[in-house]
Amino acid sequence: MPVGTPPAPRAARSRTGPARRVNAVFFDVDFTLIHPGPAFDGEGYRAFAARHGLQVDASRFEEAVREASVELERLHDGAYRPEPFLRYVSRVLARMGAVGDGIEACSLQIYDEWALCHHFTLYDDVSPTLATLHAAGYRIGLISNTHRCLDSFQSHFALEPFITAAVSSSDHGYLKPHPSIFRAALDRIGTSAADGVMVGDSMVHDIAGARRVGMAAVLLVRSGQPPEPVDGVPVIRTLAELPGLLARGCGGSRPAQADGS
Ligand SMILES: [Mg+2]
Repeated sequence: MPVGTPPAPRAARSRTGPARRVNAVFFDVDFTLIHPGPAFDGEGYRAFAARHGLQVDASRFEEAVREASVELERLHDGAYRPEPFLRYVSRVLARMGAVGDGIEACSLQIYDEWALCHHFTLYDDVSPTLATLHAAGYRIGLISNTHRCLDSFQSHFALEPFITAAVSSSDHGYLKPHPSIFRAALDRIGTSAADGVMVGDSMVHDIAGARRVGMAAVLLVRSGQPPEPVDGVPVIRTLAELPGLLARGCGGSRPAQADGS
């Protein structure tokens, strides 16, 4: 489907100060636009494990995920590489009771299949929100910590008409919150940090990373309690709130000083 040239977004003014000049909206992907299906819950892991001759207890999945998440917190240099994710999956399997040589191959299969779009579902608010933002003149980008092909993602979920640019960590080489991946996305969409806003579900990866380069940010909390409020970061419960928030000039203030690194 051809992508039309949308009109420039109208300037807006918030009640508390001058409007931001936001003309580009960037989205995180996993748990912001899509969520995994049953292949990646406890029973799904049990099925993967069985294919590799492993026995696991599906009821221990949640606890295993919590315990293994430390592996994903050790990505200190921000460079993308598969190994920490493979260690995370192996640790989940082991915590669920897997023992034996099959753990490595099973982990690799789970990692590979996380990249396949048919295992995921688009949240109901995504297509209507992207259509509204596109019609209002915003350029729309994706910034994702993933090895999933973002072209395939757009095609699978019929989002191509709305997306101008997409950057994945596996292609780019660095993960959010590294400043490099945000700057690459800004360059690719053709705007400045002052004119862009990042929307995502991770305070560490999406919000802090975007603010570090001088972008505004909006935190999406689809369920549960939001974290302690951070100055200048709006919190939304559904993407349906986003067009109105941006139209009111409430795209979130930038931090007082971006570090420029
Ligand atoms: Mg996410």
